[in-house]
Amino acid sequence: MSQLVLVLGDQLSASLASLRDADPASTRILMAEVAAEVDYAPHHAKKLAFLFAAMRHHAKALRKAGFEVDYVHLDDADNSGSLSGELERALQRHGSMPVRITFPGEWRVKAEIERWAESARANFAWVPDDRFLCSPEDFAEWARGRKTLRMEHFYRSMRRRHDLLMEDGEPAGGRWNFDAQNREPLPPPLARPAIPRPMQFRPDPTTRDVLRLIERRCPDAFGELAGFSFAVTPGNAKRAFSHFLKAALPYFGDHQDAMASGEDFLFHSVISIYLNAGLLDPLECCRAAEAAWRDGAAPLNAVEGFVRQIIGWREFVRGIYWLYMPEYAERNALEADLPLPEFYWSGATDMHCVAETVAGIRRNAYAHHIQRLMVTGNFALIAGIDPKAVCDWYLGVFADAYEWVELPNTLGMALHGDNGAFASKPYAASGRYIDRMSDYCEGCRYDPSDATGDNACPFNYLYWDFIARNRARFEKHPRMAMIYRNLARQDSERVARMRARAEAARRNLDRL
Ligand SMILES: Cc1cc2nc3c(=O)[nH]c(=O)nc-3n(C[C@H](O)[C@H](O)[C@H](O)COP(=O)(O)OP(=O)(O)OC[C@H]3O[C@@H](n4cnc5c(N)ncnc54)[C@H](O)[C@@H]3O)c2cc1C
Ligand code: SF4
Repeated sequence: MSQLVLVLGDQLSASLASLRDADPASTRILMAEVAAEVDYAPHHAKKLAFLFAAMRHHAKALRKAGFEVDYVHLDDADNSGSLSGELERALQRHGSMPVRITFPGEWRVKAEIERWAESARANFAWVPDDRFLCSPEDFAEWARGRKTLRMEHFYRSMRRRHDLLMEDGEPAGGRWNFDAQNREPLPPPLARPAIPRPMQFRPDPTTRDVLRLIERRCPDAFGELAGFSFAVTPGNAKRAFSHFLKAALPYFGDHQDAMASGEDFLFHSVISIYLNAGLLDPLECCRAAEAAWRDGAAPLNAVEGFVRQIIGWREFVRGIYWLYMPEYAERNALEADLPLPEFYWSGATDMHCVAETVAGIRRNAYAHHIQRLMVTGNFALIAGIDPKAVCDWYLGVFADAYEWVELPNTLGMALHGDNGAFASKPYAASGRYIDRMSDYCEGCRYDPSDATGDNACPFNYLYWDFIARNRARFEKHPRMAMIYRNLARQDSERVARMRARAEAARRNLDRL
């Protein structure tokens, strides 16, 4: 053999850069389920099951393509428990040879492998991960010299570069962004389009083995393992995506920001889990969505919104991550320091919006963007919860979570903990926003129009307390001037009452 290629758990793409031109006769592949990757975050049971099942199916596909694959199972007796340990063992088994790995998604993994390569004096090289459309180097070049990094500017450059939704060099429909048309709450049940469910897949024997392994090895893992129905192969992930294109994409735009009780997915694609592990290709998904618009099967505001999330936000947050790591993870610009309430795990709170969101996460290892941003994220922001605890939670509980995408979204977008590296102002909102965008408040013991009474919605008084508490930071911010004028107009006794309620709540958030 002339090279060893380690394929990581989120590198399950048939055309992975490190294998694209590899000759199966001279390439040995290493794949490993290791305890360090299980334990570094409080992973949802379905996330672990998805990754190991998809890895085992991928190993089979690679063998079918003629490669020799060393596959290390989590419960193999001599499993060393770490990626570097498995690299070491593989070289001991097969003799010294060059090691190649596609660039990883997390700083932690990069640091571990580089430490190992140096101490083992290995002949080692990273191969750039070209499943992303913008490399960290290209992003740094784009960011160089800019005073502010705004997704919208980056997104336009990506649209041009990849010729997506463009007509004669201009954006299709004459506008780059149809976001203003993507904020409709859901109409009442009888007036709304039928809400499809994401496609589900029955576990095959390989996946059933993994489900038994997770039950045995990780009995205390967060969330419900029962009902596991994710796709674990590229073929099934493509089927799930085609189902989204037909059944949900036409409504994705209008109701992108809506939330509804008992509806865990609404019109979202639920493909981040597949994109991030390599079962789907981002550019192919965008081209398929564009084709749906050109064929008249989906409106432009839906398709533009979908494409913007993928070539815009997804690529942009990865650029931010590699631009600022490792220092980025340590930021806590708002000096938030409260512990994470227990109800983030149990869902046991009277706040119906939070209870619904956490129950959905426990079931599915999934919540859609507005639940992540405006319910669990917004609450953590206005209550002042320690960003490290919040980021740990987000990294564990979602099946699509890897640090490159989780950290900028949580620390940056939701918590403003990076001091606004890319979000122009904090995404803080009172209960009114949640009331406008969902039906959660109808089933809640709190009153979204009350900020001081016995049944006052905690989002209301925590919001005004957050605004008052951070006056020195945000008062001069042009986009927050109106909020501070609004605060100044309120009766000072009312503000004092809200702040006292907030202070009492912040002493024991679990009472809410
Ligand atoms: C606090 C917080 C934490 C998040 N953590 C993660 C995470 O760990 N992993 C993750 O993939 N996404 C994360 N997101 C982004 C987004 O919420 C999810 O990508 C999305 O909800 C996935 O569901 P979907 O596939 O149904 O997406 P859709 O709503 O159907 O969107 C389509 C695709 O666009 C991409 N996308 C949309 N928004 C973003 C975004 N802000 N950043 C990156 N990609 C985006 C995703 O790949 C998604 O699959 C987070 C957002 C917030 C606010
Ligand atoms: S009243 Fe407040 S706590 Fe209850 S669901 Fe509405 S926003 Fe959430």
